Amino acid sequence: MISKVDLVVRAGTVVTAAGVIDADLAVTDGRITDIGPRLDVDADEEIDASGLHVFPGGVDAHVHFNEPGRTDWETIACGTAALAAGGYTSYVDMPLNSLPVTIDTEAFDLKLAAASSAAIVDFGIWGGLVPGNVDQVDALVDRGVLGFKAFMCPSGIDEFPACDTITLREGMARIARRGSILLVHAEDPVILDQHMAAVGGTSASDFIRSRPPDAELAAIANAIEIAAQTGCRLHVVHVSTLAGMQMIRAAQGSGVDVSGETCPHYLLYVEDDLQRLGGVGKCFPPFRTAADRDGLWRMLAAGVLPIVVSDHSPSTLELKQGDDYFKIWGGLSGCQSTRQLLLARSLDARRLAAATATNVARRFGLQGKGEIAPGYDADLWLADLTHTDVLKSEDLLYKNRFSAHEGQPIRGRTVMTLVRGRKPEKGRFIRPVGSS
Ligand SMILES: [Zn+2]
Repeated sequence: MISKVDLVVRAGTVVTAAGVIDADLAVTDGRITDIGPRLDVDADEEIDASGLHVFPGGVDAHVHFNEPGRTDWETIACGTAALAAGGYTSYVDMPLNSLPVTIDTEAFDLKLAAASSAAIVDFGIWGGLVPGNVDQVDALVDRGVLGFKAFMCPSGIDEFPACDTITLREGMARIARRGSILLVHAEDPVILDQHMAAVGGTSASDFIRSRPPDAELAAIANAIEIAAQTGCRLHVVHVSTLAGMQMIRAAQGSGVDVSGETCPHYLLYVEDDLQRLGGVGKCFPPFRTAADRDGLWRMLAAGVLPIVVSDHSPSTLELKQGDDYFKIWGGLSGCQSTRQLLLARSLDARRLAAATATNVARRFGLQGKGEIAPGYDADLWLADLTHTDVLKSEDLLYKNRFSAHEGQPIRGRTVMTLVRGRKPEKGRFIRPVGSS
């Protein structure tokens, strides 16, 4: 008997974290129902994917869309259009640099309302952990945050202060009781202060010297220690050093529930690139050495660096200009190009699917996301991998159309992005696994 489905995607090269197969995909009610060669189904709609790769839609768990409050820097409409153009179907928004920052239920409700009306792909929300809001953890978990983000050093905006060790410990204990997860920006403020005091000028290299690898390593070690003591699940955002990622791996081996992510800019650039790029390349932690860049890439290619996210942290071009690298806004725009940049550097398609979708959804509990398998949402990226180009500003869909990645080789033209089997139009809120 021929079964009836809503949609069939025919004859694509289907990429999953497990393997690559030439297959059809059947979709009903926005979910994948079957995968196999020449499926015997009768579909309301057929898409011919021959010659194309079909990836699980990307999950970018680290973006700053800044809405509500700083919509001159980025908007949810522009940010999610950029994600869809780059093959992404879900994102999780950071608690800053929106205004208000997402540290209580009122701010959460504002962000949920903004994303519900403007996002064209599905979305989750991170809460913030700051001194004085530990008592908001339970209420934010009840609202449906996927976890919490804390800074161990100043964040760059006054509304989102750094956590002292006591707040981190209390917050992690509370987060652990709810089975949630804490994400940390790991740079040690004391080490940063010491190096800052020794820096003479305001150049790109002065800025880089003010934020040494030691600050990252000390903060990661500290966070892992508190996670071990409190039993809190821990994730270190934008790890910039090879030693930092190795420290996380070692802690996993000793039983701590910790993970780490890196970003395309730490896989592409080294310290000297900041001078070349100017202010658009300023971020923190800063770019590191060739040994870090190449070491992180090797871990990614070997499948032991599980997660790559964009850390899309946009602003106006004006804020990225000037000679004083300490005053220039820190943050890179990049959520549209993560997959195309990594493919251009010959990352294996399965690794790409794992690092930009499957592993992200699993680690952060995005139910039904990140995999091409029966029962999962039909979030798909149909891409022509024969297409190569360089990244151009006129192709960017950000509110502010510039990026440090302009001019970089890219591979993979987006033919179609599907969210739950449809063209991206109206995103849905993603609650953590286990919540109603
Ligand atoms: Zn960030």
